[in-house]
This record gives sequence, structure tokens and C-alpha cells, in this order.
Amino acid sequence: MSNRTFTMIKPDAVKAGNIGNILQMINAGGFRIVAMKYLSLSKQQAEKFYEVHAARPFYGELTEFMSSGPIVAAILEKENAVADFRTLIGATNPAQAAEGTIRKKYAASIGENAVHGSDSDENAEIEGNFFFSGLERA
Ligand code: GDP
Repeated sequence: MSNRTFTMIKPDAVKAGNIGNILQMINAGGFRIVAMKYLSLSKQQAEKFYEVHAARPFYGELTEFMSSGPIVAAILEKENAVADFRTLIGATNPAQAAEGTIRKKYAASIGENAVHGSDSDENAEIEGNFFFSGLERA
């Protein structure tokens, strides 16, 4: 089992001024920030990142949204990081997210849902490598 996961604070949460609140919840959840950057994705970069969802009906909407404004990308470390972070962020649809989760607090809809969290150790590695070089990890 790996002890790292990858997250993004999505454009909706950045626009709403919730970077600080979300980072606080991440820290309070016991995660250490290994790498972090603030940037905007182009439509093409968002399409590349979400390539696995290319066949899904919401792919256009998703990549449009993810390139609509700045995001915060980060690699996080904790024992059982992938599963524990999925618990901390809550269900994809905030209407179904548990009380006290990041999406319950800060997400507005299934599409604009405040945060990303990797769904497997393998994807955490791929996604972290998409954004960060070896030098950019502490
Ligand atoms: P996650 O692992 O909880 O992020 O969910 P998925 O892997 O199923 O979907 C990836 C991302 O696509 C989600 O976080 C949403 O931003 C977006 N998404 C998922 N389902 C929908 C949908 O029905 N409509 C739209 N517009 N976006 C969606």
C-alpha cells in the first residue's frame, strides 16, 4: 500500500475563496503536504488529465470546468492516504456526501465539487507525476 495521494482544489472552490478552509481540513485530517502548486490548466491539459473519462457524457463539461480558472494541485502523505482522503472529501455528488466532509461543506454540484482525490494508489502516482517533478517534492 502506498501512503500518498493526489488532490486538486478545483476552480469553484478557488473562486469561492475556500483554499485556506480546505487546506485546514486536509491538515486537520492528518495529511502532510509533500508538494503543492497554484496554476491554471488549459483545456488541452484538462483533457489529458481526465483522459480516462473521455467516453463519459460529462467529459466536455468536466474539462471546460477544470480549465475555467486556477486550481491548487498537491501531493499528500498519510498512512492509507488514498482511502482516507476519499473519506475526507465525501461522495462525488455533494448531495450524497457525509456530514463534515469537504464536498458536503464546500461543493455545489456533482460537476463543481470543490476537490479531486485519487481513486487508487496507481492513479495517485500517475496524477502526481502529471503535475510534479521529483525536485518539487519535499
Ligand atoms: P470522483 O472520483 O469522486 O471525483 O468522481 P468520478 O471519477 O466519477 O468523476 C470525476 C469528476 O467528474 C467528478 O469529480 C466531477 O467533477 C465530474 N463528474 C462526475 N459525474 C459528473 C456528472 O454527472 N456531471 C458533470 N458535469 N460532472 C461529473
